[in-house]
Amino acid sequence: MCGIVAYVGPRDAQPILLDALSRLEYRGYDSAGLAILNGKGVEVRKKSGRIQELASACQKKPVQGRIGISHTRWATHGGATDINAHPHLDATGRLALVHNGVVENYLELKAKLAKAGHKFISETDTEILAHLVGDAFASSKAQGEERLVEAVRNAIKQVQGTLGIAVIHSDLPGLVVGARRGSPLVIGIGDGENFLASDTQALAPYTNRVVILQDQEVVALKAERYDIASPLGVRSDIKVEEIENGVTASDKGSYPHYMLKEIFEQVSSIQNAFRGRLDHDGATAKLGGLNLPSEELRRIERIAILGCGTALHAGMVGKYLIETLAKIPVETHHSSEFRYGDSPTSPHTLFFAVSQSGETADTLGALREAQRRGFPCLGVCNNVASTIARQSNGGVYMHSGPEIGVAATKSFTSQVAIFTLLGLLLGRLHTLSASAGHEILQSIESLPEKIGQALSHSDEIKKVAQKYAKTKSMLFLGRLANFPIAMEGALKMKEITYIHAEGYPSAELKHGVIALIDKETPTVLIATQDGVYDKNLGSLQEIKARSGRVIAVAHESDAKIKGLADDILPVPETHPLLQPLLNVIPLQLISYHVAVVLGRDVDKPRNLAKSVTVE
Ligand code: GLU
Repeated sequence: MCGIVAYVGPRDAQPILLDALSRLEYRGYDSAGLAILNGKGVEVRKKSGRIQELASACQKKPVQGRIGISHTRWATHGGATDINAHPHLDATGRLALVHNGVVENYLELKAKLAKAGHKFISETDTEILAHLVGDAFASSKAQGEERLVEAVRNAIKQVQGTLGIAVIHSDLPGLVVGARRGSPLVIGIGDGENFLASDTQALAPYTNRVVILQDQEVVALKAERYDIASPLGVRSDIKVEEIENGVTASDKGSYPHYMLKEIFEQVSSIQNAFRGRLDHDGATAKLGGLNLPSEELRRIERIAILGCGTALHAGMVGKYLIETLAKIPVETHHSSEFRYGDSPTSPHTLFFAVSQSGETADTLGALREAQRRGFPCLGVCNNVASTIARQSNGGVYMHSGPEIGVAATKSFTSQVAIFTLLGLLLGRLHTLSASAGHEILQSIESLPEKIGQALSHSDEIKKVAQKYAKTKSMLFLGRLANFPIAMEGALKMKEITYIHAEGYPSAELKHGVIALIDKETPTVLIATQDGVYDKNLGSLQEIKARSGRVIAVAHESDAKIKGLADDILPVPETHPLLQPLLNVIPLQLISYHVAVVLGRDVDKPRNLAKSVTVE
């Protein structure tokens, strides 16, 4: 995780670093820091907490200089303290380094360096890396700027793990060296100035011209030029890309939180996910990005979906949709399990890697593992310039616009929308009738309006939230495609309210979970009228018989359930296969409202970060 920004050019570095860094805060917010070459040496400011804390420290005591590096941290090794904040210095105090990633063999390296007399002040793995580069610099025979480049190259050879780093040295006042292995880094090209950042979003106000650093590459960045080399040699075919719509962390408008804004944006984000992809003539979907002709799509015998957290839940809904519509078996995997596991893969399997940011390290690792085994792997991402988008063999973009709230909302519904399209497309290549295809297309057309209708119940849901906000633990139940919706509801509740919550298939209740039911532990039961409605009512009765309280996600028109459940989260009715897309909305809203009642930091919940770029 974490975000890196570096600057070299004619302007004052401090305000640029602070501003660009603030656009990366979604990547981590445990601490922030910067190091600037002030003409005499390296000057560092760092603070635990949000970037705002660092900005205040810099305001009180500004650092002057035209070259610097900065970092916002999501701690992996060592607590969120001032000392553990990046940048870290080498033994001479003349070299500063920021790092995104994990040095897996840091204890071994630390012991070796300590033996040679190195002293460490932090608990981080990163400080070891700073000392390693410093040592390599001291012993290098290279001259001038090549000396730091070579030192970085030699130091990272000794490191196992992932890294995106930026390094400055007070002997070389015009140079930033960046290196990438696993963690993303982009070069931003300005006019007589250059930047380095974890993603293009950070650079939006400064430049839209970027070069994506490839894995294993090292860049020597100066105000007027940049040179990129990998262990295979200097990169000469450098492609400068123009990033459209540099993506700014658009403001919250009239909403108190990004999360609420993004929940309400689902009316349009879902339209964007479907736009241009509906083929009414063929009663099917068009997904050009798959890069697979119909004959090849027809040959797919199995689909495997890789994801983490919310993206995995979207994949689990996708499994239900594809299996129902296309009768193709689908397996879903936690990316982190797949990448190191030995689960067998059947021939003719098509993989999908699902990640909003397109930078999720576990999903990237799983994608690479699938490709290494010789399987095509397609991406379902929001960020078109992301590593997963580039590494995959094709894919489908979500077009949901920036999602700033750490708890994913609109990206989830867009991912499910994409799997709906995929199910429809594959279904129509097999046995799904044109009339069944038309029915789905028609329901898709009316979905934005229905999402608006689901959102119109926000105030009622707020009242329910006020009633249950003091609870310590909650259950979320649903069946079939609504089981992953229950999981997603529980995840939202955990993420932003810190209330313990578990999602289960409704019928699992009696196999153990029911022991948790009492007056104090409410259950959110997804019970819209579908093929398992009566079964869900059975679960409801079992809970009531044990004095449990039930909050039911139910159709607005369902009078029966009103007499049975304690509270209702109403949703409009749609095609049964699209219903999960509506059912998740009250679950997003109830978590949001509970979090607000409890005074939680909704957009930046504790311990989390938006984009999980470390393992
Ligand atoms: N491992 C480093 C630390 O804990 C960097 C973590 C990150 O990438 O945010 O400081």
